[in-house]
Amino acid sequence: MIDRDTFVKIFELTNSQNVWRLKETINLIASENVMSPAAMAVYINDFMHRYAEGKPFKRHYQGTKYIDELEVLADKLMGELLDTDMVDLRPISGTIANAAVFRALAAPGEQAVIAPVQAGAHVSHTKFGTLGALGIKQVELPYDEERMNVDVDKAVKVIEQVKPKFAVLGGSVYLFPHPVKEIAEAVHSVGGKLVYDAAHVLGLIVGKAWENPLKHGADVITASTHKTFPGPQGGVIFFSDEATYKEVGKTIFPWFVSSHHLHRIPATAVVALEMKEYGHNYAEQITKNAKKLAEALAERGFTVLGESMGYTMSHQVLVDVSKQGGGAKVAAELEQANIILNKNLLPHDPPEAVRNPSGLRIGVQEMTRFGMKEPEMEVIADFMERVAIKGEDPAKVREEVKQFRSQFTKVHYAYTLDDLQGITYADAIKLLE
Ligand SMILES: *Cc1c(COP(=O)(O)O)cnc(C)c1O
Repeated sequence: MIDRDTFVKIFELTNSQNVWRLKETINLIASENVMSPAAMAVYINDFMHRYAEGKPFKRHYQGTKYIDELEVLADKLMGELLDTDMVDLRPISGTIANAAVFRALAAPGEQAVIAPVQAGAHVSHTKFGTLGALGIKQVELPYDEERMNVDVDKAVKVIEQVKPKFAVLGGSVYLFPHPVKEIAEAVHSVGGKLVYDAAHVLGLIVGKAWENPLKHGADVITASTHKTFPGPQGGVIFFSDEATYKEVGKTIFPWFVSSHHLHRIPATAVVALEMKEYGHNYAEQITKNAKKLAEALAERGFTVLGESMGYTMSHQVLVDVSKQGGGAKVAAELEQANIILNKNLLPHDPPEAVRNPSGLRIGVQEMTRFGMKEPEMEVIADFMERVAIKGEDPAKVREEVKQFRSQFTKVHYAYTLDDLQGITYADAIKLLE
């Protein structure tokens, strides 16, 4: 007897997620995105069953001739976006990319400097995360409160004193680009390397809305392939420095990855192709939308951070909702209205406020992908005002959110069915639409 009830439950839960989060909610989680139909069509494939330990054409397994060719092609397409031919797609996530790079650049007991937590450093850069697990000592660079960024002059002095093996810039909660050039010069002058963690902003960099850190002195870029870069969940590393490229290549396997989840490689390659074509328009629209949403929220009475610098240059908007009851309360109320975002510590919050921080972190990249532009940012700000400031019943607002969202279900900045006419995969894409 098959366990029909349990099967139906599994199926229904999965299907409910698909409908709810893909069609009925305004998703403003800053670290998420959706793939294009063309990428989805190559995501479900036999590679998900296979292994290919080692580097392309030098594997420890038989049966890898197609993944060898595909991985070389995917590395090449990704590299073209950042103008380098040294790319490694084997890390299965941004955290694993960081682990491989950090461990290759420093041994346990050695030191690294990181961007201050207030300037958005990710937990993997800290003693509580990957860096700590590797036994690498961490020194936080000084923070400039007014500019919401690394304090460059003080940071240079710290680097000269500490003489770290490497510095880490980039983060998870940041509105303005970190000072790559100045920190690269300082860390190079003491024989260290600069790692730029572009997990959040890779899509902005490949779309040229943000400058390419490799052009300004970064030796390595680590990233996730699924935040502003709209690919499958995974990790990637780009290099400008050949010795580091080779060294890191030796640490990924066997230290951090055995299977590198091969099925994401063709999908990542498709997204790279799409970004070559549409990445610039996509990235520009993201930054315009973020600025517009920040302005619209401020006009409606929200306390939006970064006002004196034009609110934001990234895909993110940070809002202080302590007057509205705090981040935990407001995020939960908004979820009732099908607006999904996360509570977040703001630069002025003490670390122990993590359960009820004063802020919300908002990202506009996914709604931009679904075709929303500046006028739609005003509509989102209205919904948020009604729930969080005017105290309207979230269940009532939810019906209007669903109605609004139903007009934006097609993924933009991606190949369309027309583009792919005559390509076999178009049939698979039809099934997905
Ligand atoms: C999300 C994030 C990571 C981790 O990426 P995963 O792919 O989730 O492992 C690393 N660094 C930064 C700055 C991030 O925001």
